[in-house]
Amino acid sequence: MSTIFWFRKDLRLADHPALNLALESVGETYLLATADQLGSPFDTLSPIRQNSLRSSWNHLQESLEGRLAVVRSPDDLVSIAKKLGVAKVFVSEVFDSLGVKELASVTTDLKSAGIEVVVGPGNYAVKPGTVCKDDGTPYKVYTPFYRAWLTHLNATPVGRASLDSVRAIPTEWLSFAPQLDLGKNTIAGETQALATLHKFIESRIEQYHEHRNRADLGGTSHLSHALSHGEIHPRTIISRLPSGDGAEVFVKELAWREFYADVLFQNPETLTDYLDKKYAKMRYEEPDERFEAWKAGRTGFPMVDAGMRQLAITGWMHNRVRMIVASFLVKDLHIEWQHGAAWFEEHLTDYDPASNSHGWQWTAGSGTDASPYFRVFNPVTQGLKFDPDGNYVRRFVKELAHLSGNKAHEPWDDPHGYSLGYPKRILDHATERDEALRRLAELKGL
Ligand code: FAD
Repeated sequence: MSTIFWFRKDLRLADHPALNLALESVGETYLLATADQLGSPFDTLSPIRQNSLRSSWNHLQESLEGRLAVVRSPDDLVSIAKKLGVAKVFVSEVFDSLGVKELASVTTDLKSAGIEVVVGPGNYAVKPGTVCKDDGTPYKVYTPFYRAWLTHLNATPVGRASLDSVRAIPTEWLSFAPQLDLGKNTIAGETQALATLHKFIESRIEQYHEHRNRADLGGTSHLSHALSHGEIHPRTIISRLPSGDGAEVFVKELAWREFYADVLFQNPETLTDYLDKKYAKMRYEEPDERFEAWKAGRTGFPMVDAGMRQLAITGWMHNRVRMIVASFLVKDLHIEWQHGAAWFEEHLTDYDPASNSHGWQWTAGSGTDASPYFRVFNPVTQGLKFDPDGNYVRRFVKELAHLSGNKAHEPWDDPHGYSLGYPKRILDHATERDEALRRLAELKGL
């Protein structure tokens, strides 16, 4: 009897109970990853996302000494499973709407070929759907969720199973070759994830609670890529943390990821629909040339532009700046959050359906936030507060590199502010803030 393990967003070998189930079953094991990402064929992903995935596969491939097969789609997986005549396909459980749908469809196809699907534990410290109120209903607000989540937490990693049973799939069966040139790329992978965690614990975690909001300091863990690709399990992370205020706040951030996964699991339509449905009735603008300016990092607001350019250049953006650019899109440009979320999906190498949709909805005011819609981020004061010396802005907005200190945040106040071609502001923030509040008032009147 032989089996397949299907890698999706769990590209690692350690602390992987679902993979262990496959490796510990009787017979040969084949390991397969699918290239298409939920809702997006691989070829349609931005180059930066394609590269980050390639890099993850490369590293897994290296650990498996060439025995990983990457196929294009779940359909290819089904046909290879039939060709190999496997009895079972093992996979980690996923909880986001598209992932659940994809697994259900593959399960139907495999079952009709007489192949059993075995679903093992997924990539959360506490399985989404577990944390409930006393009356059995899910939490809608983060803080009580977090308190209850802690009581379910068991942060003991599981051991690694032997790879002796793993066999390679004949390469002539594989129609898709995503350039698995081993060892070239070092930005991703399980080893890199552990090294990133180690470095964070050694040098930054102690001050995490003080520095995490500062866009200029790089005080966060940068583990989001590894978590979203499943190169590390959150349980592994938590098990290695020291004690202290920084670590405590850091666990709370990991719990945000778990909270959003839970919210999306309980409300699958909120991947693209409003959690608070009344916001669908709000007056919004269609994306226009101002949306293009936002995407290109040319709004004339330094903190917004620095964030959007950081995203384009690196495939990552600081959390505080994600909130600033999201607020700008929804409350200054009055464009629906889904347009921004789709842009993030295309470009973020740490793209995660739940954290993205609900990060956007939190800022848009239609999500789980206890803070109301009328909190509108001021992009200039936010910049001055979370990048006080202007270093973050200068790093990403070269046309402001000549302005010293916090002057980079207000080029309009400097006689040479625009001398390197930085664009003028595309709107007046105070006017648009009033407009956002007017639209909110209209909504209340409906
Ligand atoms: P750290 O501060 O070191 O946090 C550690 C881990 O905790 C992160 O890797 C992440 O897994 C989790 N985490 C931290 N903050 C949050 C948060 N606010 N919400 C959910 N999880 C969190 N995160 C993604 O992983 N993928 C996304 O697609 C994504 N889209 C977002 C969109 C918007 C509009 C906003 C406001 C936030 C989004 N986030 C997303 C959350 C957050 O910005 C990133 O997780 C964080 O910036 C990653 O950097 P880090 O690993 O250094 O974070």
